[in-house]
Amino acid sequence: MDLGIRGKRAIVCAGSKGLGRGCAEALAEAGVDLILNARSADVLDAAAQEIAKTYGVSVTPVAADITTEEGRAKVMAAAGEGIDILVNNAGGPPPGLWSDWNRDDFIKALDANMLAPIAMMQAVLPAMMERGWGRVVNITSQSVRAPIAQLGLSNAARSGLTGFVAGTSRQVAGSGVTINNMLPGIHATDRAVSLDSNVVKAEGISMEEAKARRAKTIPAGRYGTTTEFGAMCAFLCSQHAGFIVGQNIMLDGGAANISV
Ligand code: NAP
Repeated sequence: MDLGIRGKRAIVCAGSKGLGRGCAEALAEAGVDLILNARSADVLDAAAQEIAKTYGVSVTPVAADITTEEGRAKVMAAAGEGIDILVNNAGGPPPGLWSDWNRDDFIKALDANMLAPIAMMQAVLPAMMERGWGRVVNITSQSVRAPIAQLGLSNAARSGLTGFVAGTSRQVAGSGVTINNMLPGIHATDRAVSLDSNVVKAEGISMEEAKARRAKTIPAGRYGTTTEFGAMCAFLCSQHAGFIVGQNIMLDGGAANISV
């Protein structure tokens, strides 16, 4: 399927590895030029070079912490005018117990997983609306619909973003701009390794055992891949997805036992 977005320009935040990288690759494969962001310059530069070489698109790496105002300003300065697509993403907050977290912990989570994506949307939406076309995809989490108890910081911050998107997506849709959220369940990325390492430590089992146990909780019987995730992102950013507005799309292999 031709996604109809060849020659468009996208910002992909937190995209040197994992789910963001999957989105960057799928957009690049569809012919989209990228502004690719992450914090560690060496890994980011290598990813940018690899993607540019593989797909023949332009990839501009911008090493910056997207959860800070300075980081976002750096990304926007490199992006310049004419951004058609925005993929919002950042690292997730640490797990813990409800009684562990103080105000600073909450502010940090809100900054990273709610206020940073909102600020990025506020930066790109006016020009998208003026041009009458735009796509925004926010990477959130299955925890928005099926909360994971030990991820209280994530549940809270991402629910705030979800509420913002629910209203805002309906306000901008008439200008040809769509905003949707992708809700990953467990995917085979560094983040999953870190979650599984916590289980290894807590339960004294091997990594293989921890992974096998988690895979058993997923009806699909396995972890998701970044390629599958990226393909959905590219579709949501395509010409074909203009009627998909304000949705929360679960990609969890059926793990959350919910019907709507
Ligand atoms: P990952 O494999 O650890 O990759 C994270 C990427 O984000 C890296 O490129 C990292 O590069 C970049 N990054 C992290 N913090 C950043 C920041 N402040 N500014 C700019 N770039 C940043 O993680 P992932 O599994 O893809 O997860 C992506 C998001 O989805 C996270 O919020 C995670 O909580 C959520 N999620 C993941 C899963 C899963 O199973 N993987 C499930 C549910 C939700 P640098 O470190 O160099 O900055």
